Amino acid sequence: MQNISLTYPDVGEDEAKAVYDVVMSGWLHEGKNVRLFEQNFAKYCGADHAVAFFNGTVALHATLYAYGIGPGDEVIVPSFTFISTANCVRHAGAKAVFADIDPQTYCIDPNDIARQITPTTKAIIPVHYGGQPADMSAISDLAEDRDLILIEDAAEAHGALHHKKSVGTWGDAAMFSFTPTKNITTGEGAIVTTNDSVIEKKLRLIKDHGQIDKYLHVMLGYNYRMTEMQGAIGIVQLKKLDAILQRKQSIANRFNSGLKDIGVFTLPYVMKHNTHTYMLYTIRVNDGIDRNKVMKKLTSFGIQSKVYFPPVHTQPCYANIGYGRVSLPVTESVAREVFSIPCHSRLKGNEINYIIESLHRAAY
Ligand SMILES: *Cc1c(COP(=O)(O)O)cnc(C)c1O
Repeated sequence: MQNISLTYPDVGEDEAKAVYDVVMSGWLHEGKNVRLFEQNFAKYCGADHAVAFFNGTVALHATLYAYGIGPGDEVIVPSFTFISTANCVRHAGAKAVFADIDPQTYCIDPNDIARQITPTTKAIIPVHYGGQPADMSAISDLAEDRDLILIEDAAEAHGALHHKKSVGTWGDAAMFSFTPTKNITTGEGAIVTTNDSVIEKKLRLIKDHGQIDKYLHVMLGYNYRMTEMQGAIGIVQLKKLDAILQRKQSIANRFNSGLKDIGVFTLPYVMKHNTHTYMLYTIRVNDGIDRNKVMKKLTSFGIQSKVYFPPVHTQPCYANIGYGRVSLPVTESVAREVFSIPCHSRLKGNEINYIIESLHRAAY
């Protein structure tokens, strides 16, 4: 029987060698490898600055803190996301306000963002769901119009383009995560991009206890630094990103043609002027099809699948503090009907065919 995992980090000898060199150098904490990773990443996105962090969650928290977002402020986020997006708002002491998603891209809906804006709204954090940019042209117009800070949660979308412009350059700042489920990884890790040099300096203070000089702390900060091992892996991974994205695009193309005749699945929709980087290949079952039954059959065929994501507002740590009354009809129905299948860059040709055949058998 096959045993195909949902994700599989594309790492090997080159990353191992990079870590080996760091360890042998004796300099393990943030240093020249992290600096070079930041510079290369900024250049890759076309952003002026990039600041590395230990993971995406602390990176988003630091970004909100750098913009002075805190108690009394509201921040609009999708509920159809990894819980980190909303948790960071709460960690900052602000209130997370959920907006519904677009039923085709599963990204936050600009029209619903507009409906959720109040006099205390400070920022918007759109998520590029599964590797496809949210409607950033509409959202950045809205943010500018209403004088709101725009922070992209680009955790899942390294290298994705909207109107030929990279994610990470559409808002005031953007966060990219490098956990092993993303298209490139450093084990744990993240980078924040921004064109604002004042914010860049603040981020560097926040991640290092507000230290501006040896043991001179000018603001309350945290220890959110990246390690040199992460930086060294990141340099190697970033060089592979375009090849990984190309491979994933060709796998997605094979899925698109192999699955389109099944008739009971809605396949990923790519919005005009977007590229999709397929961190996730997400399928939605049509009316009358039991999503959980399809997933169980896939499991019995040795294929892992997963629901990204159960809505944040329905999680006990949100529902129990009043979010249980929130109604997000599109988010709720999409979350009942989607599942994501393996689409990692190390899938072999026969595995891709097997996944397609298995979905034909699992559909009915
Ligand atoms: C992965 C991810 C994050 C950050 O996760 P970390 O594990 O903390 O790096 C944030 N938002 C979204 C949408 C993600 O997928």
